Amino acid sequence: MFLLVSFILLGAVRKMTGQYKMEKGAINEALECKISELEKFIGRRVRIRGWLYVKNTVGKISFLRIRDSSGIVQVVVKKDKVGEEIFEKMDKLKRESSLIIEGVVKKDERAPGGVELGAESLTVQSPSLEDYPLRKNLSPNLVWKYRHLFIRSRIMSMILKLRSSLSNIFRNWLIEHGFFEVDAPSIVTAATEGGAKMFEVKYFDKKAFLTQSSQFYLEGAIFSLEKVFCFQPSFRAEESKTRRHLSEYWHLEVEASNMDFQQLLHFEEDMITSVIREFYDKHKDEIKRFNPEFKPFEKPFKRITYTQAVELLKNNGVAIEWGKDLGVREEKMIATILGQPVFITHYPRQVRAFYHMPDPENPSVVLSADLIVWPYGEITGGGQRIDDYKMLLERIIESGYNPDDYSWYLDLRKYGSVPHSGFGLGFERLLAHILNLPSIKYAIPYPRTQTIVYP
Ligand code: ATP
Ligand code: MG
Repeated sequence: MFLLVSFILLGAVRKMTGQYKMEKGAINEALECKISELEKFIGRRVRIRGWLYVKNTVGKISFLRIRDSSGIVQVVVKKDKVGEEIFEKMDKLKRESSLIIEGVVKKDERAPGGVELGAESLTVQSPSLEDYPLRKNLSPNLVWKYRHLFIRSRIMSMILKLRSSLSNIFRNWLIEHGFFEVDAPSIVTAATEGGAKMFEVKYFDKKAFLTQSSQFYLEGAIFSLEKVFCFQPSFRAEESKTRRHLSEYWHLEVEASNMDFQQLLHFEEDMITSVIREFYDKHKDEIKRFNPEFKPFEKPFKRITYTQAVELLKNNGVAIEWGKDLGVREEKMIATILGQPVFITHYPRQVRAFYHMPDPENPSVVLSADLIVWPYGEITGGGQRIDDYKMLLERIIESGYNPDDYSWYLDLRKYGSVPHSGFGLGFERLLAHILNLPSIKYAIPYPRTQTIVYP
């Protein structure tokens, strides 16, 4: 009974949404496949499902470019093959109409992908109701306004596939190296990286924030799992409009117990070089299309202390005082002079967050490191964490925070504390760097910035 009702309803919905069939033969005789697989089926009758990309009719023949998630194929529709009625309906279709096409695969060296499809039947799943708003020579405003449509473009679908692959490679690498993935909350009550950049959330009758980093929660998890990571969004109320800042970005964060600062640098180097090498080997052709110059990073990465960096900058005519944080201009100069990527280490404690471990040999600097590339600047920030209760308490007070807000975090130093280190990697920054994208906004499907919160 339930099934019967479902079928009747489905039929009614189909009628309402205007689905109609334009075919001669039965649809279930052909082999269903993706466009990228067509070359394997020359001479066979196949069925593809896709969207109309381009249409060009010359007399009684129409050439359609159909795209699916795997590629584009040219479909040749002849009036005498599909019949006049179908041909006329098809000729009125607007771009992005969704279609099911059956036909025979033919070899054609001139066609994209080396094959074309001779249509025998054509079913419109849903015709586009209006002219597609995205055409050639898009203005940037249109791209952001119609982001939900722009991600259908060839370029965005290529970027999104690469993004998906890169995140998988990171995950697999970490899991193969004994790490557990831990999920942290997005709604939190205290800052990790400074209160000014936090989004406030009305949380029932309390005030809460969107998380800037999951580091503290990962630190908590090392006492259970020892080696942990998470890959989830961090939120920064960045007021600067730069090519490298999003308000919501995907943050790969790693934390490990019994790992000191030098071990951390080696670990970061290993992970990043191995992951990028695998990514490059898997997708060399696509990466080269975006960034012909790109070469996978080699180990060991260059290292320079903050103090040496200040000297280097002064010698190159930059007026910078020891104790001031490095900005984009400084990072650019260092990466350009030394080559990239480069670790800048041992920052003055006043420019780093309170949880960084002071260097026992020189407590005016902390055991922290940023990994710098150009033009995306810092792609990772990390270091050894303070593991002593009293020292952490003092640093929280010295930094002007209320220890009560951090009492659970302080607890971690009360019950069997261990030396530990970790870092956070800006996923979109790394992807945008590898692909040499003009802005980090292209490295994420739906960017969030100070000016973009829709769609
Ligand atoms: P920056 O100085 O470049 O703004 P940060 O010092 O605020 O970065 P961290 O707090 O150390 O950054 O965050 C860890 C990593 O997250 C950074 O190394 C960077 O790759 C990435 N990241 C930080 N802020 C953003 C952002 N607004 N958009 C995208 N990625 C970011
Ligand atoms: Mg930083």
